[in-house]
Formats: sequence, C-alpha cells, structure tokens
Amino acid sequence: MSNSTLKYSVETSNPFLEEVMERSGQNLRSCYQCRRCAAGCPVGDETVVTPDRLIRMILLGEKEEALKNLLSWKCVACYTCGTRCPNNIQTARINEALKQMAKEAHIEPVIPKVASFHSAFMKSVAHFGRSNELEFMALYELENFKKGGINAVMDDLKSTSKLGKAMLKKKRMHFKLDKTKGRSEIKRLYKKSAEKRGSKD
Ligand code: SF4
Ligand code: SF4
Repeated sequence: MSNSTLKYSVETSNPFLEEVMERSGQNLRSCYQCRRCAAGCPVGDETVVTPDRLIRMILLGEKEEALKNLLSWKCVACYTCGTRCPNNIQTARINEALKQMAKEAHIEPVIPKVASFHSAFMKSVAHFGRSNELEFMALYELENFKKGGINAVMDDLKSTSKLGKAMLKKKRMHFKLDKTKGRSEIKRLYKKSAEKRGSKD
C-alpha cells in the first residue's frame, strides 16, 4: 500500500469495489481486518501486501495499486486465507479477478512469466477441461517467445528443466492427453464469461 494518505471516495472506489466483488463472488465489505488471513499466507512475507491489506486497498478505491499488486501474481491459490477467514472471504478468487482485470486493462504484469503461465493455463483448460502438460508447456513457451524471443525460451527451459525432471520422477507431471467430461459446457462457460466482460478470451 502506498505511504500517501488514503482518501476514501464514493465516486471512485465504489465501481471498482463492485466489479471486484462481482467477478470474484466475494463480499469484501464483510472484512473487519482481523488479519487471520495474513498470518497463514505463505507468500505474504515476500509480497508485502497480505490478503487483508489487498482487501483494504480495494475498499479504499486504490485501483491502480490493487491491479499492480504483487500478491495477486504470487498467490499460489492454497486457500489458507479463506479457510481461516471468519467471513469466508477467498482472497485467491479476488486475486484471480484482479489478474484478469489487469490483463484486460493492458497493464504490464508485475511478473511477466506468471502472466504467461496464467494465460497458457487458462487456454489449455478451455481446450481440454483441465491443464494438459504438453499443450500447456508449448503455449507457455510461445508466450515467452513473444515477449523475449528465443533467448527467453532457452533461459526458461534451462531454469525449469531440473524441476521438470523431478516432477516426472515423482509422477507429478505426465504427457498423457487427459480430457474431462463436459468440455462443451466448459467452453460455453468461457464464452459466456468473455461475453460478459466484453473480451475475446
Ligand atoms: S481473515 Fe477475513 S475478515 Fe479477517 S482480515 Fe482477512 S479477509 Fe478480512
Ligand atoms: S490463497 Fe493466495 S492469498 Fe490466500 S493464503 Fe494462499 S497464497 Fe496467500
């Protein structure tokens, strides 16, 4: 959160707050800043902005800061914050909404690689109903290529190959083409969501 004095403005904060609440399905107004969520967030120390602070930021209408905050990009969706919250506020869903809103507003992602990862993951899920490793990796490296050329792809492959081998060994990654049932329903939901947001993807 910025060090400047925070000023609440009904005109500027309400539309943003309403949009975040609608997209995330979370009632941010019920947050009473008990900070139970912050105590359990595994990335809170490195992001500085903890779930309670992010919610406060949104309530105060700090749109730009909220759309550029580090927590949304580092959140691992462990749902610890939501499990601990007495008001059942799931910050992981708020983070997801903020990432999408930042993307639509063409705001440079705080961590471009996470943005590429997010984009590739969402596309793969739209195709197969779940992430398919082969397609997902290809889409992810394509995003990296678009942003940083062949060097970005090579650097990434070098840094992740060790992790990939370890995951394969522990059977946490495989190259089978898994598909879920009801893929047409998933596609329909994606389409409906894009139409609602006035977006192509
Ligand atoms: S635990 Fe829930 S009510 Fe408490 S600060 Fe976090 S989000 Fe707000
Ligand atoms: S879901 Fe995200 S914000 Fe919540 S505790 Fe986990 S990492 Fe932190």
